[in-house]
Order: sequence, then C-alpha cells, then structure tokens
Amino acid sequence: MYGRHPTILIFFFLLLSVGEYLYLPGAWPRLSTFHKVLGFFSIISPYWFLYLAAYRDPGIITPATHSKYMSHYPYDFALFHPGQVCRTCNLIKPARSKHCAVCNRCVAKMDHHCVFINTCVGYENQGYFILLLLTTAWLTTYGAYLGLGLITENIQARHPGWRLFKPSSFSWHDYLVLLTFGIQDDVGMGSVTMLALMTTPLVWGLLGYHMYLIYCGTTTNESMKWQDWKLEMDDGFAFKRALPRDRAKDPRWEASWTRWPVESVQVLVRTDDGSFPEAGDHAPGVGDWERVWHLRDVENLYDLGFRDNLVDVFIPGYSFRDETVTDEERGRRSKKPKQTRASAVVDAAT
Ligand SMILES: [Zn+2]
Ligand SMILES: [Zn+2]
Repeated sequence: MYGRHPTILIFFFLLLSVGEYLYLPGAWPRLSTFHKVLGFFSIISPYWFLYLAAYRDPGIITPATHSKYMSHYPYDFALFHPGQVCRTCNLIKPARSKHCAVCNRCVAKMDHHCVFINTCVGYENQGYFILLLLTTAWLTTYGAYLGLGLITENIQARHPGWRLFKPSSFSWHDYLVLLTFGIQDDVGMGSVTMLALMTTPLVWGLLGYHMYLIYCGTTTNESMKWQDWKLEMDDGFAFKRALPRDRAKDPRWEASWTRWPVESVQVLVRTDDGSFPEAGDHAPGVGDWERVWHLRDVENLYDLGFRDNLVDVFIPGYSFRDETVTDEERGRRSKKPKQTRASAVVDAAT
C-alpha cells in the first residue's frame, strides 16, 4: 500500500487490452475503412501516452537537476518559500516541487502521485498525462459510439423499426428486451460497449478537472495548499504585505534568474492567534501587514493565463522571458481578467 507497485498500472493495461480483445473480433470486420483507420489510431494512442507518462522522468530532483528546476519558477511567498530543505533528499525545495512519499523523491511541479501510471505526475510528464486522459476519453467515447451503432444493426436486422432512442411505437419492456437481445448477439462487443459507455463520463470528468487546474494555473498539490489558506483566511489568521520589486535575492536560497516572466509582489503569512505579525520578525516584505479575508485578494503567481499555462504544461523548459509582461497583463495575457484567481483554484479542488 505504501510503496510503488504497478498493480493498478497492470489493471489499467489489462482493462484496455482485454476490452479490445473482446470487442474487436466481432466489430472489426463490420467497420468501414474510415473507421478502421481511425480505430487503429484510437486504440494505439492510449498505449503510447501510457508508456510516455509512466516511463518518462516526471521531473525528479537530484543534485544534477537541482539548479535547472530552481530556475523554473520563482517562489510565490505564499505556498512556496525560499530556503525550505527536503529532509530526505537534503536539497532545497524548488518552488512548486513536492516530496512524493510513495516514490520517496522530490519531483518538480508535483501534481500528484498517480497509481494508474505508477509514478508521479510532475513537470516533465504532465503533458503526457493529459494526453493519456484525452486519448482514453476519446477511445471509450468512440468505442461506445461504434458499439451502439453495431448493436442497433443487430436488432434492426430482425426488428427494423427499433431505434436507439426509444420510438413511441415500442413499449419500454419491448425496447429493453430487444436492446438486451442486441447486446447478447455479440456478448464481447456488447458488454465492452456498455462498459465504455459507463466509464466515459469518469474519464472526461478527470480530464475536465485537470484542464480546469491548468486554466487556473495550479496543480492538485497547490489547490490543496490554497484550501488550507482559505481556512486561515476564514478565521482571520492570514496577512499579506508588499514584496519590493527590486528585492535582492539571497543566492543561497533562490535562483537569481528564472524563466518565469513575473515575480511575487506579495508575502502571505499566518499567525497562530489572528494578531498582526510582530514588527521585529524576519518575514520578508515591506510596509504594513494587511489582513486577508478572501483568496481573491491574493495573486496566484503561477497563473499566466490559459494559453501560457498550456504552453508551460506541453513545452517543458519553455522560456517565458522572451516576452515582456507589464503589470496590466499579469495573469490575464490571453483572456479576460479573472476576478477570483486563487478562489477559483479552491473551487477546482472541492
Ligand atoms: Zn525530497
Ligand atoms: Zn510518486
């Protein structure tokens, strides 16, 4: 239970393979050339992206890769602070990274540990993970669509008036009896069609959830951290103040340069009892502390707008520094302003 084990990966692989083994012998000869070609690519693409998502490096942080990942994202001084060391890996945690307790290693832009691919979803394989979800969602949808067409043909061969959407000339009883008959006509294809029909909403739902996280410029891990902040804010225990733009970075804890186009302009802290932070403490930032009641009042540094968030997922190492970002454009470069950025992140998680 607590270590890496490919049980679920094998289960997922078998679900695909056994499903296809049962479905194809009856269905394949009845398909047109167009559906055979499209079907071929629909079948192989989930395997291909399963392989890439599961066996590519998710972004493991080692002494060799550490400086690269340190320069990927700046610290946002809300979820990620400079100078925190992973006690197991003995390395400073780069912004957005997390130590995976299952794999026992730190992973860059850790999203979550996924049992279906038996590895973490992180900076380097998140694009493949999304494509795995997309191709699997397409496969189950397409398989169900073709299967329902073939089942309908089975039934209409003997009862020409039957339709998939119940005609009024059929009672529910007759409609369902004939549907069952059509499924049983080719039990392998029929049952896999029904299974595909039932799993399709789950896969699309999972894909939709991850697309929404990308839209918000966040990860599963970070959305949970924002949820914790929301509780602090509800209690009135969260405070923020400004972080100077020309702040000198301590090279011991932070990369002096990152490829990210924006730096944090805020520091977020909590106090144990809701009193304002002490003037003498060493929290970074300047000026007075301001109590924060709502997530919408803090900025999610890692949201550059949907288009750039997608680029960050699908083009690892892309340098956003080539484009200059004005303050006007922060977090809204390719679309309408988002009113509640951090709060949208929590909506995604709940
Ligand atoms: Zn670690
Ligand atoms: Zn892991």
